[in-house]
Amino acid sequence: MTSGAATEPAPRNRVPGEFPVRIAPPDLSHWRAGNFGLPGFIQRKASTPGPHLMIVSLMHGNEFSGAIVLDRLLRQGLTPQRGTLTLGFINLAAFDRFDPTEPTASRFIDEDLNRIWDEALLRGGRDSHELARARQIRPFLNTVDVLLDLHSMLWPSDPLLLAGSASRGLELARRLPLPGLVVVDSGHAGGRRLIDHPHFVAPGGSAIANLLEAGQHWQEETVTMTEQTVLAMLALHGMIDAPAAPARASRRIAMVTHTISPTTGQFAFVAPYHGGQVIPSRNTLIALDGTAEIRTPYDDCLLVMPSLRASRGHTAVRLARIEAG
Ligand SMILES: [Zn+2]
Repeated sequence: MTSGAATEPAPRNRVPGEFPVRIAPPDLSHWRAGNFGLPGFIQRKASTPGPHLMIVSLMHGNEFSGAIVLDRLLRQGLTPQRGTLTLGFINLAAFDRFDPTEPTASRFIDEDLNRIWDEALLRGGRDSHELARARQIRPFLNTVDVLLDLHSMLWPSDPLLLAGSASRGLELARRLPLPGLVVVDSGHAGGRRLIDHPHFVAPGGSAIANLLEAGQHWQEETVTMTEQTVLAMLALHGMIDAPAAPARASRRIAMVTHTISPTTGQFAFVAPYHGGQVIPSRNTLIALDGTAEIRTPYDDCLLVMPSLRASRGHTAVRLARIEAG
């Protein structure tokens, strides 16, 4: 999960088996060395010129739906019909620690890898496992025209595509047929995501990035949504023939307007909301933060990735206004 919580801490009062693991981690041994000088990244080029599309998985070590799909495509021998395709497995060290009996524990080694894509931080003196990995990857970003970053979510939510803050990110999201929900946001106070890196959002630039939150962690439907979105992205860039497309989903585009973070140790939603749920009426009570009431600020307020047991200082939910159907 990238957009909802600052670090997606392991939920308090966890119930054993609360987050069932219904898929097995893939065997990535073939891809660990990489094939162009960047470990964990495989690049395949067409003889016909075209864009450079990079698709990455395992930004968070325990979110391996994306890795399953990329591993499958590589094993099938996928080579683009035009341009350059780079497929990457980012936090392999965290992934290697995945334990189905403690599935939330292997999101990262030292820190959230998707909050450190800040040039000052990358060039600075602080060190961590994740910073070292980001510094390895950073030089290769300059050649990327389009990036798709594959994630999944801890709590139940409709699949969604995060378009980031640049208008060109939203344009790309609009051209993809799925998933049905597109969320526009301006990133996190907690640090820059890869899709927020200046290469992808600086005014005047042309590189574009989207982030897929394909569904709940460790569910087969999430793998399916990931695969359909990846194939749609490949087809959009002329790298494969268009797949027998699923019917184009009805599309909702929502702009994040508010971030709700608990200020007390007693934050609770009044109902077990799911991500993508729309609260019809303005001023509806959705949560209590101690004695403070959290109410929806407008009609048809969309809940982005509610974290049902958020703790103080971490994002509990973001509120978004639906801009277009
Ligand atoms: Zn994630």
